[in-house]
Amino acid sequence: MPLADGPRWMVRRSGHAFNSFQGIVRTLRRFPDFQPRFGAHVVQLHWNPQTSRVDSVIYVDRSTGETRQIEGAAVVVAAGPLASTKLLLQSTSSDFTEGMGNRHGVLGCFLHDHPNEWSVLELDSPLPVLDHNVYLTRLPYTELPPLMGASVIFCAISKSDRLLSLTPRTTRRFGVLTFSTTTPTQETRVRLHPERKDEFGFPVLDIRMQFGPEVRSTLQATYARLQAILEAAGYHCTLTRQEEDLFPGYSAHYGGTVRMHESPAYGVLNAWSRLHDVPNVVVADASAFTTGVEKNPTLTVMALSARAADRLADDLMRDNMTSTRGSSRALPAFR
Ligand SMILES: Cc1cc2nc3c(=O)[nH]c(=O)nc-3n(C[C@H](O)[C@H](O)[C@H](O)COP(=O)(O)OP(=O)(O)OC[C@H]3O[C@@H](n4cnc5c(N)ncnc54)[C@H](O)[C@@H]3O)c2cc1C
Repeated sequence: MPLADGPRWMVRRSGHAFNSFQGIVRTLRRFPDFQPRFGAHVVQLHWNPQTSRVDSVIYVDRSTGETRQIEGAAVVVAAGPLASTKLLLQSTSSDFTEGMGNRHGVLGCFLHDHPNEWSVLELDSPLPVLDHNVYLTRLPYTELPPLMGASVIFCAISKSDRLLSLTPRTTRRFGVLTFSTTTPTQETRVRLHPERKDEFGFPVLDIRMQFGPEVRSTLQATYARLQAILEAAGYHCTLTRQEEDLFPGYSAHYGGTVRMHESPAYGVLNAWSRLHDVPNVVVADASAFTTGVEKNPTLTVMALSARAADRLADDLMRDNMTSTRGSSRALPAFR
């Protein structure tokens, strides 16, 4: 089914809209100071106890199999909620025995996801074929349990319908994409697997998450509302789910696990997306989220990352890396 990027004649999806290589990295390659290392799989951040900073990154060159180390004044980790967290968890040292920046045991906790379903909506009388998506926002906060919500996106049912929207055609069938939320808790989490190893000899990630009954009931309330709105407009409709896709990971929209909080007891990152305990490490992806909404995540990830990058650049120029540590109130320990 078509996704929400590109003009209506763009039938073949390239995925460029969410691809930072196409959007950013490729354009930077003309600058001599920009030196990308392709095929570099980062396995650890190296902590220097003398300076209380991360001073280098250790990576495996996939083409040669060599392990290499590269120094830097600061590190931006942007591998996504699962891989960034894995990297931090496996970056242990005498000061961080449970993972980089994980003095309070919060790293890896509060994972959340975007439950996502595709359905076909059939109307008893036709409407114009859609050339753009139509968004039905969530129910009011008072009508659903805390942190729960679901949105609905109507779209053309097929690529050919999208092309046909260039002509004055009508249809009885539309695609419906629903995004819901989950409530992050201490139990929904990732951790390093006690036995299984990845290809580099580090533990694989063990993901602990299940969708509770509140996810299905939130979606049902949303579908009932959608049908009521259409009935009120004079359209009777039926909704048919396309496949059983209500399981964690289906939407590839994980969030949390390196959450931002004013207090290191409840979050790993400060307000500038730096590790509370490591001033020269930024985490710039959806792992910074404290909770997930029913909206798509990428623009918020980009906004937080741009904000964090501006501040990091300022601090590097002034060598002012320690001033960004978040002021924190004394709160009970997380565990
Ligand atoms: C099919 C699909 C459709 C989507 N549609 C939407 C949408 O419509 N709207 C929306 O908002 N979002 C959408 N998303 C989600 C969106 O793709 C992500 O939110 C976005 O790509 C996150 O960007 P990122 O740079 O944080 O992470 P990623 O794009 O996941 O990039 C992380 C990079 O880090 C690399 N990496 C991981 N580990 C290591 C390591 N140890 N060393 C070196 N590199 C490493 C990975 O190879 C990857 O290139 C969609 C996702 C999918 C899969």
